[in-house]
Amino acid sequence: MAALLDVQDLSKAFGGNQVLQGVSLQVRPGEIVGLLGPNGSGKSTLLNVASGFAPADGGRVLLQEQDITRLPAHRIVRHGMARTFQLPSMPSRMSVLEVTLAADTRHHGVWSTLLRPGALRQAEAQALTRAHQLLDELLLTPVKQNAAAALSGGQKKLLSIACALMGEPRLLMLDEPTAGVHPNLRRDIVQTLKRLRQQGISQLIVEHDMHFVREVCTRCVVLDRGQIVADCRPDELASHPQVIEAYLGRQAAAAAQAPTAKAA
Ligand code: ADP
Ligand code: MG
Repeated sequence: MAALLDVQDLSKAFGGNQVLQGVSLQVRPGEIVGLLGPNGSGKSTLLNVASGFAPADGGRVLLQEQDITRLPAHRIVRHGMARTFQLPSMPSRMSVLEVTLAADTRHHGVWSTLLRPGALRQAEAQALTRAHQLLDELLLTPVKQNAAAALSGGQKKLLSIACALMGEPRLLMLDEPTAGVHPNLRRDIVQTLKRLRQQGISQLIVEHDMHFVREVCTRCVVLDRGQIVADCRPDELASHPQVIEAYLGRQAAAAAQAPTAKAA
């Protein structure tokens, strides 16, 4: 099956810091791929480059077989990709509902609006219906008139998922969706992401929590110092030598493998 997201040999440096060194990975339709790796290994940078928030130095990003490498972020959204940020920031004067509505960037152009005057009003009505629906699904209806900036950290994560879904993406990329989130809300996020998969939305998720990864992800990719060092099932992570090395260092990896070597 053709990959939905196909990242090919992507590289990115900041000054002399080579952050991505020839990264290739795929997300196929129906998958939830966990993107793991120690702090500073390049996970957020990979999401930033793939979603057009930072330019690539080399390599390609294909979405549904179309080359989106050089497209700006707002055009990539129209191709079916949406993302959230590790630390969502919310405008101080907008309500939760207004922020959700503003996230729909598929506005009609000036010409189509002039030629079909009713189209804009119809699009606005559809966006309003969808925003209410999403806020309901993400349990934010009770706070929809509250200031978005005053939400808890966990609710901001839910709101940023609602915003990402306003563009009706095929691929959702989430940067640490449950970090610092209360366990109750975390359960809600887990259920939401599984439901979205059933609705046909594939996902690439940066996440550290192993319970989350085992429950949600269908496959895992591990980055270490800007290179992919493992591509495996969630239940294979704990015994994967390159994963142990990435998190604990070479000596710990050798020690962890020693009993197996002796047994063999
Ligand atoms: P991760 O998400 O895996 O923790 P990041 O992708 O945020 O890692 O960062 C990887 C490396 O890239 C770090 O050394 C970080 O300091 C550097 N980096 C990320 N973004 C920038 C930037 N905009 N300017 C300079 N360096 C950056
Ligand atoms: Mg990060």
